[in-house]
Amino acid sequence: MFIDSHCHLNFPDLANRLPDIYQRMQDNLVSHALCISVDLETFPQVLAIAESRDNLYASVGVHPDHEDCTEPTVEDLVKLAANPKVIAIGETGMDYYRTPGPLAWQQNRFRVHIRAARESGKPLIIHTRSASDDTLSIMREENAGEAGGVMHCFTESMEVAKAAMDLGFYISFSGIVTFKNAKDLKEVAQAVPLDRMLIETDSPYLAPMPYRGKTNEPGFVKHVAEEIARLKEASVEEVGEVTSRNFRKLFLKENESVSE
Ligand SMILES: [Zn+2]
Ligand SMILES: [Zn+2]
Repeated sequence: MFIDSHCHLNFPDLANRLPDIYQRMQDNLVSHALCISVDLETFPQVLAIAESRDNLYASVGVHPDHEDCTEPTVEDLVKLAANPKVIAIGETGMDYYRTPGPLAWQQNRFRVHIRAARESGKPLIIHTRSASDDTLSIMREENAGEAGGVMHCFTESMEVAKAAMDLGFYISFSGIVTFKNAKDLKEVAQAVPLDRMLIETDSPYLAPMPYRGKTNEPGFVKHVAEEIARLKEASVEEVGEVTSRNFRKLFLKENESVSE
């Protein structure tokens, strides 16, 4: 059984064919998926999808690439996170890829999310792109380790992965790790211990091989698990089992002794 720790089921490419998507999750033994919020305007859609099925969850947060949208306060996020279906804060973080940083508004927004995560006791889903130094320093300054969480769709170096794991964070791999030209990332996946690892699709983007270029969906997370298994010389069952246990431990606060 696999869990997709990061997908965007409310995005148009997926929202108009959800029954199909749920069926393929079942066919591919994907037991659960976490639907990620990118702004407060569309959060109600994300929550409605999560509330429609037992095996879906939601996060609440505003993506660092969304500049012109409602700016959340700590109180806003804590209030929305009180819903039992909301199991994480994010996605949040820093992204200097589109607009070179430092960007004060992104940094302030990231701090707000970390404070909300600490206050609500829910872990963080962190997006970082071309901004790992600032991401890590803000995580340290704001004591993000107290909330914990995951570095999602990880594409950084092992050094950055180590620094995040030292703060208690998990590292999540997406379909990018299946791409032939992702040599460095494959090495990072080999080095990150399985018990610190999550898997995700970030669907509808970044479909793994053999679906690269097509619309991604949670059922395809199986292919990420298969590549991790190959890289770590483990069985795909073990990768599924351990990453699912990690997910439950982090987001559902289940301890390790709970059986699958
Ligand atoms: Zn992201
Ligand atoms: Zn995302």
